[in-house]
Amino acid sequence: MNTWNKRTKAVHAGIRRSQYNEVSEAIFLTQGFVYDTAEAAEARFIEAGEDEFIYARYGNPTVAMFEDRIAALEGAEDGFATASGMAAVNGALTSMLRAGDHVVSARALFGSCLYILEEVLTRFGVEVTFVDGTDLAAWEAAIRPDTKAVFFESISNPTLEVIDIASVSKLAHAAGATVIVDNVFATPVFSDAIAQGADVVVYSATKHIDGQGRALGGVILGTKEFIRGTVEPYMKHTGGSMSPFTAWVMLKGLETIDLRVRAQAATAQVLAEGLEADGTLSNVIYPGLNSHAQAALTATQMGVGGTVLSIDAGSQKAAFALLNALDIWTISNNLGDAKSIATHPATTTHQRLSDETKDSLGITPGLIRLSVGLEDAGDLLADLRRAIAIS
Ligand SMILES: *Cc1c(COP(=O)(O)O)cnc(C)c1O
Repeated sequence: MNTWNKRTKAVHAGIRRSQYNEVSEAIFLTQGFVYDTAEAAEARFIEAGEDEFIYARYGNPTVAMFEDRIAALEGAEDGFATASGMAAVNGALTSMLRAGDHVVSARALFGSCLYILEEVLTRFGVEVTFVDGTDLAAWEAAIRPDTKAVFFESISNPTLEVIDIASVSKLAHAAGATVIVDNVFATPVFSDAIAQGADVVVYSATKHIDGQGRALGGVILGTKEFIRGTVEPYMKHTGGSMSPFTAWVMLKGLETIDLRVRAQAATAQVLAEGLEADGTLSNVIYPGLNSHAQAALTATQMGVGGTVLSIDAGSQKAAFALLNALDIWTISNNLGDAKSIATHPATTTHQRLSDETKDSLGITPGLIRLSVGLEDAGDLLADLRRAIAIS
């Protein structure tokens, strides 16, 4: 299996078949498991083998299939599936940190990630230093000999800054710090984060892994030692585990993720190039455009620009008019869905931030985030152009 291409792993890795030898993965909707004898129960509580389960919060065959499949796809030794992306971010950080530890984080973060770093960790005595994630000198200055972890989103939301995983990892590892990457926008298809130096990779499976907007989920990926020794004890006792039904949805999502995100990224490239060439918007941000500040890094780190672009309509009034004029694009806040979704970050996902912080992160009043779906690229571009003309 190790020689398989990602696309093959996404379909076959991690399969566990029951005595019926079913083709499609079974959903084991059970909380518990029966032991033949009291001695067998005792033995399993002392040490459970690979295919021995105790309670669904600890592990479940369907969930284990998902964990093994996504770990194979990412090139990680192991994974722990979680109830949501935020349970994964929180679990990765909280399971390994203790009072007195120091963390360096990129400042441009998804709102809930920022809440964990700024409000939760600090409440328990963890010191957090925020830096501009694209500035390697800032990382170097902030990382100290006592830095325990660095955290960043490999592509930031919604301004799509790309962070240099290999270079930041090198700086972090020189100080003995663990590199934790929230890799949602890169997707497991375009990511080589572990090979590039990340120690721990976190996904919200809610996004591209489900890919059809149905279920919340997440996963923490890393070494066997980190996942089973540090993450699993924390997650199984604090209750953020993935449900077997969700794991089945995510397994089915992984079977098609390669085809989906490649199509979405190809369409995003067409839309970004088309809108930039039109010249009617004050800004078109897409890591796959030559005009993007990290275009060269994007090419080496991911190969493509991803499935999300952001545009600036110039003002909130123009942005709202544009959004309200769209026919195909839906106004919502998920991403990675089959349906193309338009979001106004300043008034929704990033509403909580002060105007000053929004300013410093480039979240302008006119900014619209576009998550590209699976519709026809020409239809999507025509819908945007018509709405832009009205706005
Ligand atoms: C959506 C998202 C999360 C949170 O995931 P949920 O599944 O909604 O909990 C975390 N990080 C990033 C970058 C995201 O886009």
